Amino acid sequence: MIERTLVLVKPDGVQRGLIGEVVNRFERKGLKIIGMKMIHINREFAENHYPKDMAKLFGKKTSEGLKEFGINTTKSEKELGEKTWEDLINFITESPVVAIVLEGVHAVKNVRSIVGSTSPHEAAPGTIRGDYAHASMIYSSVTGTGGRNIVHASGSAEDAKREIALWFKTEELHEYKRADEFHTTGR
Ligand code: UDP
Ligand code: MG
Repeated sequence: MIERTLVLVKPDGVQRGLIGEVVNRFERKGLKIIGMKMIHINREFAENHYPKDMAKLFGKKTSEGLKEFGINTTKSEKELGEKTWEDLINFITESPVVAIVLEGVHAVKNVRSIVGSTSPHEAAPGTIRGDYAHASMIYSSVTGTGGRNIVHASGSAEDAKREIALWFKTEELHEYKRADEFHTTGR
């Protein structure tokens, strides 16, 4: 049940000076940081992290969002999704991010709860996205600014494996004991 998961402090979080704030939330939960680095990724790397087929999901969401707010468009669902994905790639490559690998019991689920819902306007107060952002994904699509929600967190244990292998070499992941580890994990 001990898992690893990938977190990124996205360009908006780094530019806003929130690295320490983000790291603190995971540290105080007892999750162990086993890898951490700052990196300015290029477009090719970004496309590996956020594969282009995500555009399909974004297309449906964006089209529904536009309808909800009575905004007319001549673009197809496919075009809308591709534009939202393009905005995301531009955003994630605009300046450095901080990549972190966390380890702990049910780490994937724990980290997702701390991060909060994808769209900051729906993220519960007390979560990172709920406390430090307020705009919505449909607002980002309309303004073309990219989904600025401070952090990325792997969505499943399977995604985490793929993402950790993309961002970190084995020798960049470290083994050590935290002083409180017995109390947090019984190890
Ligand atoms: N995103 C976006 N528009 C959307 C949905 C997502 O710009 O309609 C961005 C946002 O930055 C999000 C990322 O794409 O964090 C990945 O989307 P996913 O659905 O995987 O959300 P997450 O797992 O980050 O909560
Ligand atoms: Mg995701």
